[in-house]
Amino acid sequence: MIDKPIETVMRESHRDILIPADLVATVNQDNDLQHVFMVLTKVKYAKIPVLDNDNHFMGLVSLPMITELMMQDTGITSRPLESVKVKQIMQKDVPTIYERDNLEAVLRYLVDENFLVYVDSENHFKGIITRRELFKEINYLAHNFNKHYIALPVYNHKSKNETKHAKIQGSKGLINR
Ligand code: AMP
Repeated sequence: MIDKPIETVMRESHRDILIPADLVATVNQDNDLQHVFMVLTKVKYAKIPVLDNDNHFMGLVSLPMITELMMQDTGITSRPLESVKVKQIMQKDVPTIYERDNLEAVLRYLVDENFLVYVDSENHFKGIITRRELFKEINYLAHNFNKHYIALPVYNHKSKNETKHAKIQGSKGLINR
């Protein structure tokens, strides 16, 4: 669990870490790969969401997924891209989040991934939470924590080593101002 004071200060920033759906580059699952290739090249994002006609989140597509199809024995060709739809190659097993305030889950997921897809309870695509936006929150926390709390180091009566560690950490023993 995230320590309460940490969560409190992060929420205090009142910044929205969600990039709303209308600002996110997406493709339709029935688009052919030539179109998707052009979109990905244009927007310069490594991976983008794939939706259906009703705005349901269906998966993710990246440039390497497409370029793999372009590599033939005879060289690189874009010919196969015209006849393949993105739904045939997209990544489908993608975790999503529908409680956007679940900071714990967001933090854990973004350790390994660049962004997290936010959906409603019916799997409608609502936006993404990116590492960059989360880092801005952490930056806010790092610079504003002592406006809200005084952090005191925890001393215990165990080994010298552990005490030293506690001094360095100094993250417990918080007094709300
Ligand atoms: P960032 O943390 O801003 O570097 O974004 C991480 C990843 O999220 C990018 O590599 C993209 O895959 C995705 N992403 C960020 N912003 C957008 C956007 N506006 N539209 C589509 N994908 C995005």
